[in-house]
Amino acid sequence: MAEKKKTAPKAPAKKAAPSAAKKVSEVKVEIKPEVKVEVKEVKPAPAPKAPAPAPAPKKKDGKMKVLFVAGEANPFIKTGGLADVAGALPRALVEKGIDARVMIPLYLGIPQEMKNNMQYLGNCFVQLSWRSQYCGVFSYVYQGVTYYFIDNEFYFKRHGIYGHYDDGERFAFFSKAILESLKIIDFKPDIIHANDWHTALVPVFLDCFYRGDEYCKDAQTVYTIHNIEFQGQYGDGLIEDILGLNYDQSQLVRYAGCVNYMKGGIESAARVTTVSPSYANEILDPYYGYGMQDILNARKFKLSGIINGIDEEKNNPATDQSLFKNYDINSLENKKFNKVGLQQLLGLPVNEDVPMIGMVGRLTHQKGIDLVTAVMDRILDMDVQVVILGTGDWKYENILKDMQNRYPGKLRAIINFSSDMASKIYAASDMFLMPSKFEPCGLSQMIAMRYASVPIVRLTGGLKDTVMAYNHETGEGDGFTFLTYNASDMLYAIERAVGLYRDYKDEWKKVVENGMKKDFSWSTIAKQYIDLYKGI
Ligand code: ADP
Repeated sequence: MAEKKKTAPKAPAKKAAPSAAKKVSEVKVEIKPEVKVEVKEVKPAPAPKAPAPAPAPKKKDGKMKVLFVAGEANPFIKTGGLADVAGALPRALVEKGIDARVMIPLYLGIPQEMKNNMQYLGNCFVQLSWRSQYCGVFSYVYQGVTYYFIDNEFYFKRHGIYGHYDDGERFAFFSKAILESLKIIDFKPDIIHANDWHTALVPVFLDCFYRGDEYCKDAQTVYTIHNIEFQGQYGDGLIEDILGLNYDQSQLVRYAGCVNYMKGGIESAARVTTVSPSYANEILDPYYGYGMQDILNARKFKLSGIINGIDEEKNNPATDQSLFKNYDINSLENKKFNKVGLQQLLGLPVNEDVPMIGMVGRLTHQKGIDLVTAVMDRILDMDVQVVILGTGDWKYENILKDMQNRYPGKLRAIINFSSDMASKIYAASDMFLMPSKFEPCGLSQMIAMRYASVPIVRLTGGLKDTVMAYNHETGEGDGFTFLTYNASDMLYAIERAVGLYRDYKDEWKKVVENGMKKDFSWSTIAKQYIDLYKGI
């Protein structure tokens, strides 16, 4: 692998792009919902003849080699939990003796400071049907993990990382570029771990075009679904025009009259995982499966759920630089300075005793914002303050801004993406509201527990697997829960939490401590992924 800095040839930019990159913490990422295509109930097509299974991985130096490929990764670029996972799981794998590396696109939004320190490794051209597209490869070592970046200014030198008209082409390019660039990085992975629809085509392209390639002929594939709602669905014109698949190969990605990248990943990967055991079960059902339930039921033998962890170094109230005052389980009395600091910063009445309810997340139907706005008046009837940070659907952003105007002394809606503000809210709040309609894993509730903010959640997916309802009799539990997707049930859970906070201070402390003591470390979880990789 080239270690010396060389001058990087630049791919021709088709559009002028602004130069200054922002700090990751300040990147405002617009999260646009994908165009949803109505999925007809169809039976899964019989799996096309797969190429002969690859032989068991050979590990010359004894280390298993894993290439983790994703649409985003912390600390370079982030829109949500996927970046957190791509920034933490590979490091945990490396700490366990796995040679894990990560590959993401070289987006405009990656901080310039990081780009300046990347090493150029080489370039090649990627064939997308009739197109031949430039692919540069850069590397950057962060906390012991090597990250690779695929450079093509036409596809990635743009504002916002998803939501472009040609996302289907952009991520087909990225998926093929990953396989094409293995020779440049001189890495023969035993496992390629693809994530979400952005890289779902990697196992497809591997089986269709690269099983004769010496760098990946032996590679096995794992495909992780972080959110089944976003599947990468496009018109089937893409098959010939971009993917370059023949009729037989195209059966892997055809579904319900269109091209579905996620379906291709599920069909082709040796193992399919999702980010919590409960969600792995839920997506077999039409309510949660977003049309993919029949495919998943047919491929259930290779489906499992592994809960995500959180980066306990990054999400640590004892060291987080964004806090007004750091604290840990032994100095919980310092948490109140964060509430007072945030109240002053946001112009809310300063009162360290008023219960503060925080929310950090995408403002979309998934996160249960409709429940919150439906009973906001009732929530604010109580003596509480509510602070919400998020971006998302225009409709919810506006409703929240309007409510903030009606309740200036009680509600703040910060329509922004800011890791600094997110930390401040986790630290300042006493309760963290996450009433999701569905939640593959959810990281925010775990971060909240670590910051001594008690989660109030709907029992679904990863929320069900990570939050245990507080039991007044036994003193066990670390949160408040409700089951049915219903605003009144959510309100009742909030009332119970506020009641305990106000009237039973000792019990409240116990709930807080139970949450803070929970083990959400990636170290434990990495072991489960290693077992999965070894079992293929
Ligand atoms: P998602 O479904 O968006 O992946 P998760 O709970 O798994 O939800 O992860 C969300 C991550 O993104 C958490 O680390 C959370 O703190 C962060 N996050 C979400 N919205 C914002 C925002 N507006 N500003 C800063 N961080 C955010």
